[in-house]
Amino acid sequence: MNVYITSTPGYSKESIKEVTDLLSSVKGEIQFIKDGEPFTQDQLTLSSSKFEDLSQIRLLSFDGLFDLAKTYRKMNTISPNDFVVVISTFANERRWFSATSNKNIFVDADGWEYFTDKDSKFGIASQIVENIFQSLLGIEFDNAHIDPNVHRKSIGCINDMCNEKSEIMLKLRTGYICNSCLIRARNNNISQLAISQIHRLMQLIRDSMMNFDFLQQIIKPEPTIVDAGCNIQIGNSKIDLEDVPKTLFIFYLAHLEGVKVDSLEKGDYKEKLLSIYRKLRKGGKKETIDLLCLPYTNSSSTFQKVKTNTNKSIINLLGKQLSEFYVISNIKGGKSNYYKIKLSREYLNFELDL
Ligand SMILES: [Zn+2]
Repeated sequence: MNVYITSTPGYSKESIKEVTDLLSSVKGEIQFIKDGEPFTQDQLTLSSSKFEDLSQIRLLSFDGLFDLAKTYRKMNTISPNDFVVVISTFANERRWFSATSNKNIFVDADGWEYFTDKDSKFGIASQIVENIFQSLLGIEFDNAHIDPNVHRKSIGCINDMCNEKSEIMLKLRTGYICNSCLIRARNNNISQLAISQIHRLMQLIRDSMMNFDFLQQIIKPEPTIVDAGCNIQIGNSKIDLEDVPKTLFIFYLAHLEGVKVDSLEKGDYKEKLLSIYRKLRKGGKKETIDLLCLPYTNSSSTFQKVKTNTNKSIINLLGKQLSEFYVISNIKGGKSNYYKIKLSREYLNFELDL
């Protein structure tokens, strides 16, 4: 059985390749087809005319996401026995990480750094494996809530429901399939080879992620300067970002202690953000900052998108390991929920007057 991986615009061909390469390193009867390409906008409009203006799309329904997979099937004449995975840069109505229906799978591209603090490819690859396994077990998104093998209370099994985002990490770290799920797999006539491949894939994703963790421990940040003219230098790299991402990045560098999500949403920092923004762009519109500070749940909020784009640019500029100290991450603990950059103050020379 083949697995075809595509994405919506904004998730690059290179990123698809990274995920496919990771998944292809375990050989078996499940074949992850290389050279997957993102949808072009013209191809998206074959699925629905609403894609004519991408900037207007805030959320997609599950049907809308599965329709994309169906369109991809038609475009590429893919057999109903094969899987199609759409890595989606559009948020979905229920904010699920992924879902499966009739061998069509979508996985959310964004927000992995938001709670796993890791390279997103591990999270995305593991969701692909999980959904393939569930589909083979006969678990579909619309019956998952009553299925006895979807564990409501996390036990570290691939089929944990994971209502809490933090539980995903447990699942990723264990790379485990519980006995009851293994028995169901055998009863469902999933071949031994496929079960063993799925198991090895989960172990591989876990080990790769742990190695990544280990490297993080031994890499140190670089001296970082924000000068009076809003120029940012990290080690030998000059950090060129567009005005809005740069505004957000400088803002978080100015607040290494972190900023609570609700203070940002209450507008406590609007003036500061606007002042940085107008240093970068003379006469910059106030509305741009207003949209940035809307509550995350408001569909007009641009915060998640700008934050994700900022993080992606930082990862591109600095590489995956060094960028860990510079990406804007979500930190949750007790009642606090805030965003921060992990850089420690001793590495930062902040000369900009705010
Ligand atoms: Zn299980």
